[in-house]
Amino acid sequence: MTEQTDITPTPFPTPELGEPYLLTPGPLTTSAEVKRAMLKDWGSWDSDFRSMTAQMCRHLLEIANDKNGEFECVPMQGSGTFSVEAMLGSFLPKDSKTLVLINGAYGKRVAETISYLNRDYIVLDKGDYMPPRGDEIEAILREDPAISHVIAVHCETSSGILNPIQEISDVVYAEGRKLLVDSMSAFGALPLDVNKTRYEAMVSSANKCIEGVPGFGFVIARKSELENAEGSSHSLSLDIHQQWRNFQKTGQWRFTPPTHVVAAFMEALKTHKLEGGAPGRLARYTQNRDIMVAGMRELGFETLLKDRWLSPIIVTFFNPSHPNFEFTKFYDLMKARGFIIYPGKLTVVDSFRVGCIGRMDENVMRQVVLAAKETLAEMKVDSALPPEAALIERAKLAA
Ligand SMILES: *Cc1c(COP(=O)(O)O)cnc(C)c1O
Repeated sequence: MTEQTDITPTPFPTPELGEPYLLTPGPLTTSAEVKRAMLKDWGSWDSDFRSMTAQMCRHLLEIANDKNGEFECVPMQGSGTFSVEAMLGSFLPKDSKTLVLINGAYGKRVAETISYLNRDYIVLDKGDYMPPRGDEIEAILREDPAISHVIAVHCETSSGILNPIQEISDVVYAEGRKLLVDSMSAFGALPLDVNKTRYEAMVSSANKCIEGVPGFGFVIARKSELENAEGSSHSLSLDIHQQWRNFQKTGQWRFTPPTHVVAAFMEALKTHKLEGGAPGRLARYTQNRDIMVAGMRELGFETLLKDRWLSPIIVTFFNPSHPNFEFTKFYDLMKARGFIIYPGKLTVVDSFRVGCIGRMDENVMRQVVLAAKETLAEMKVDSALPPEAALIERAKLAA
């Protein structure tokens, strides 16, 4: 975006205004500007809206640092999953074989989607949260020359693990295969520079690290892949090639776009730029996480992951083993204090999650810790230590 703006981001909204903070990975707490941008109606065919879409795509390509113009951005209606399905259906040829790297719910969803598409695939399933590593991926690729593609989840939001995307990309291309990335909860904060981390396409959505409201996703894909994707998709509405061609021809979305959501997203992009782009945002999220995790650990809570794997996006904590602790009660009492937390998604031990993304800063995170402290006291839980089984489970995680 070239235009200069003198709008400074509003102070972070406070729960006193009657709105709890969403400590969730999206939908998340958005700024007043983002919400206000939705008070105007737009004609989807109108040139103002068309240029807004074009500007949005240019801005997203800038965030991906596509300085050589090798990539294109194609927005797609629906929640993030629709864009993942669109990417898979469009860029996995009918005769492809894919290795899906799984360590949580979103990797599993990718595999499930590929089976709906009737494409061949195998999985490397590391369980709830173990990271897929370069050497094991290399071994699988060497053993099976039929594998043409690898799919990785950048930040697996179900545990909050930050997967080693650079290591994965390096090994995939060293073995002559292609990488697709679900960077839904990472893009816009964590680095995914097309000049450093090689991939064919990646997908993210409006309501994660860019801090917009839900309603669409977007695919950033290599032009050559977009060209080659003609006739590949199983779906009319999710055909990324056709969506792209239509943008090129008319500047319009093929079907009714979420106009208000796009307008809100433009505001979110302005704030993103003012904050220093992805590096600025990463700095704030990292600070949010560090303050929150340190405070929670002081209360006796333990994180599922060791520090090396903790993302600045969302953090999983074990439920305390204390007999008075009950998640739904903890949740309600936290909500009454203005904070909406998130249940955990582990199969082995009980857990909950606290998000670090959205319009929140370290002061808000200090209030979160204080609220957790008061809530434990109210529940008469005098120790937040998890059960022994949780710590045994965690010890399995490589350093
Ligand atoms: C949010 C998210 C998605 C998409 O989920 P939707 O509910 O469809 O928006 C996909 N992958 C990851 C890693 C996510 O965090």
